[in-house]
Amino acid sequence: MAKTTKNVSFCVIFRSDANVLKKTKFPLSAQNLPDITFAFFFHILYNVPMQLSSISVIPVLCESFQEQTYIVHQKDTPQCLVIDPGLAPEIIVETLQQKCLTPVAVLITHGHGDHIGGIPVLKDIWKDCKIYIGEFEADKLTDARQNLSASFGFGLTVGPADVLLQDGAQIELAGIQFEVRHVPGHSKGHIVYYIAVEPKGLLFAGDVIFRGSIGRSDFPDGDSAIQIPAIKKQVLSLPDETIIYPGHGEATTVGTEKKFNPFL
Ligand SMILES: [Zn+2]
Repeated sequence: MAKTTKNVSFCVIFRSDANVLKKTKFPLSAQNLPDITFAFFFHILYNVPMQLSSISVIPVLCESFQEQTYIVHQKDTPQCLVIDPGLAPEIIVETLQQKCLTPVAVLITHGHGDHIGGIPVLKDIWKDCKIYIGEFEADKLTDARQNLSASFGFGLTVGPADVLLQDGAQIELAGIQFEVRHVPGHSKGHIVYYIAVEPKGLLFAGDVIFRGSIGRSDFPDGDSAIQIPAIKKQVLSLPDETIIYPGHGEATTVGTEKKFNPFL
């Protein structure tokens, strides 16, 4: 990590080391042409609603920390899930209202301030909406030091969780079935949400893994020793075609990260 340049933010490592960037490039060859083609078209589609099988995924960019909130719902169903509502709640609310969607649950991957800042506004409008978070992460919702917002000068607390989730839990909400996977390393209680939908599964990964990178592990409850083994066990074990929606940056796939992520 000595060669890594860290510029901003709660969660993202911007790695400018020349060797890392070199490894991250996609060399042109017939063998990896499908990956390049997929990546190109995914980039074009990025930030617009993406229709995947029966489930729609609507990304909402919260600009202050470049955090990605996701609205997820079954097509033609008014109920939805909101994953990691960030620090631009007015845009999240506007998107929900434009699409006539009602959030029945907020799913939190981890409790850093840039992933939870929108909770109070959503709860104020949709009072029956329940807050879900990993069992080892819940304290961050009510502690500005633990959720790191105090360090960034805005002292955020968002109220207690409604439901604590354990590794391996199988949940159905808004007509969507998903699995909870505990992936510590970036934070001790970080979980990811896996929807095993056809034809390609969907993984909402928070700050566990990004396109060509992984989450920081140098926060007080981070742990670099367990981070990569946890990612390999809980993320890279999923089918290669699984689409990863990270908490920052562009979407990717499990197969792409297996091939090209220089940290894994
Ligand atoms: Zn984070």
